[in-house]
Amino acid sequence: MTSVDLQVAPYLDPTLHLEARVADLLGRMTLPEKVGQMMQFDAREELEGIVLDHHAGSILHTSPEKVVRAAELTAQTRLRIPLLVADDCIHGHSFWEGATIFPTQLGMAASWDTDLVERVGRATAAEVAATGIHWTFSPVLCIARDLRWGRVNETFGEDPFLIGELASAMVRGYQGGGLDDPDAILATAKHFAGYSETQGGRDASEADMSRRKLRSWFLPPFERVAREGCRTFMLGYQSTDGVPITVNDWLLSDVLRGEWGYAGTLITDWDNVGRMVWEQHVQPDYAHAAAAAVKAGNDMIMSTPGFFEGALEAVASGLLSEADIDQAVARVLSLKFRFGLFENPRLPDTARIAEVIASRAHTELNLEAARRSLVLLRNDGALPLAPATQRIAVVGPLADDAQTQLGDWAGSSGQIDWMPDGHPREQITTVLDGLRALFPGTVTYDRGAEILDLTDDPAGTFPDGQPRPPIVVPREPDAAQIAAAVASAEQADVVVAVVGDRIELVGEGRSTATLELVGGQRALLEALAATGKPLVVVLLASKPLVLPSTVRDASLVWVGNPGMEGGRAIAELLLGQIEPTGRLPISFARHAGQQPTYYNQIRGQHGDRYADLTQEPAFAFGDGLSYSTVEYTDATILTPAVGVGDTVRARVTLRNTGDRPAHEIVQVYVRDRVTSVSWADKELKAYRHVELAPGESTTVEVAVDAADCTIVDAAGNRIVEPGAFELLIGPSSRDAALLPVGFEIR
Ligand code: BGC
Repeated sequence: MTSVDLQVAPYLDPTLHLEARVADLLGRMTLPEKVGQMMQFDAREELEGIVLDHHAGSILHTSPEKVVRAAELTAQTRLRIPLLVADDCIHGHSFWEGATIFPTQLGMAASWDTDLVERVGRATAAEVAATGIHWTFSPVLCIARDLRWGRVNETFGEDPFLIGELASAMVRGYQGGGLDDPDAILATAKHFAGYSETQGGRDASEADMSRRKLRSWFLPPFERVAREGCRTFMLGYQSTDGVPITVNDWLLSDVLRGEWGYAGTLITDWDNVGRMVWEQHVQPDYAHAAAAAVKAGNDMIMSTPGFFEGALEAVASGLLSEADIDQAVARVLSLKFRFGLFENPRLPDTARIAEVIASRAHTELNLEAARRSLVLLRNDGALPLAPATQRIAVVGPLADDAQTQLGDWAGSSGQIDWMPDGHPREQITTVLDGLRALFPGTVTYDRGAEILDLTDDPAGTFPDGQPRPPIVVPREPDAAQIAAAVASAEQADVVVAVVGDRIELVGEGRSTATLELVGGQRALLEALAATGKPLVVVLLASKPLVLPSTVRDASLVWVGNPGMEGGRAIAELLLGQIEPTGRLPISFARHAGQQPTYYNQIRGQHGDRYADLTQEPAFAFGDGLSYSTVEYTDATILTPAVGVGDTVRARVTLRNTGDRPAHEIVQVYVRDRVTSVSWADKELKAYRHVELAPGESTTVEVAVDAADCTIVDAAGNRIVEPGAFELLIGPSSRDAALLPVGFEIR
């Protein structure tokens, strides 16, 4: 291969028009170079082969040393096309040792705060960009409906409207001022679309749903971020209506590229192309799979090494034309040119790394995010802890488990191999650390229980050679361990039990069959409850879990994995130094058999309970207490009849009837009383944050555009059907908590 005279190559001239640069470069590329340009390789493999032999367009999971090495190797290639370096920087710069790790998406969602989420996205982008990574596979816009699914923690919860709001904020944060912004990274809306609609919570199982169902709930958040300029979309693993999303022409061409006019980059998920061959058995070989994926409009193929030979073979055999490949490559190159990578490959910047990674400002923001992620679900009066408290018995296997507190996609969570010990312990404040630091009295600590052991899956590796997750073996309760915890509890004024799940029960391929606490934790809680001591349960769990009935009256705080500052935030909350402000972005079940428990279910079934259990969730979407009490009264409609182009406005009075400040999230749901096709009984359409001092009363105006009071009709069109509606205003999605006011759309 002759090397190109780079001095005179037009594609290197930044003053030339983008199309001219792309055309010039494309004209110089060989077919293997083009195919490689469409590929994203796992950088944990040997880099020389990836960059020099396979002409990689992009890499992911690249250790800090390898980011630099990959750039050196790129400089040795014939055309010196810069790499796009990507990773899953999901709630912070996940795999950069000592970076700021924020609460998980689900934890952040409990804040219902777009400004906060945008700032977290901005801070993450600054840390990520400094280290030479250009692209994050975040945010997740999947709708969490089956709590058994292992990836619930990665979502913003169950409501399409809230997801759209928060995801847009995150995308704005990541992408900042645009591609010229040195702190901008490319965002990814994933997993497009319907991936979370699993069967039985089984990860990536067929999501068999109608196009109408997709359009009703699953597509709206994606449409929102597509229109807001999210640069890239990742395609789900699963098939829908029999067609893997990777080659789902209706979804990709008709809807995404067509109706929404999306011009961004499409990336497959991990080995989606190979999976069509070896897992889903819908393509006979890699040549057919590669041809189908290219023709469907994919730009970047993640981690399917066989795509290289497959695509070459497909062109040779006439299954695929080089022109189809050219279109995809042109889109990848355009992104690189627009991002300015040919002029500035955005390599790691040592000075900037020192300045931004875990900076004081980011750590403060992280504490703010952790505080806002806490949801007080029940208070039997134990919280905040009484000033007379002298001795706290902290108990539980998660009270001092620093890495577990960070959750999935962080350090040692299993996706990468260069941080076996996770993030630096001293950067993480556990609940025990937090209480020891902030509580002036005595704090004792007992683990009280173990959660699980692991055993190898006898099935060995997956057909593609990837390891199977080990199998979880729950630990039996240990009488001596429990006795020690009970002894401490009996000596204390109050017991704080920190229980929940561990990384082995969370994430891809790690859905759970039940929602119960695993291992010795249930017996521990039962023994603690039997002491009669005031008991505060801190459920530090990646997703909603079910607690044993013996502690169903105990005070309860739910904390999704709250990040590095989580323990401090929890201690502040327990001690009454901050107010509880979080509201559930997802409903909690009473039993796994109730699945699904999401609030916006379709009307119509025989009865409303099981013979042996209510269908009511344990805690509903929107629930969350403060340390005060707030009354909602006098809901009044200000616009009893509106046209479709108008805004529906209503007013409600809030009064803080307690003696602590309250941060309320006034939630506004819409009920369409009669619809031409079945529809959800109510849907969140707006919310407002309101601060109330003790005794303060205020009147809040809420507004919803009539044009947003939509349903999706039988043909799949989103429409407003004139007629009678209700606005339901209150502190939670529960009917009993909502004040209805009627209005009409003419
Ligand atoms: C996950 C994606 C992730 C990708 C790269 C896949 O297994 O489904 O969410 O971005 O791996 O790590």
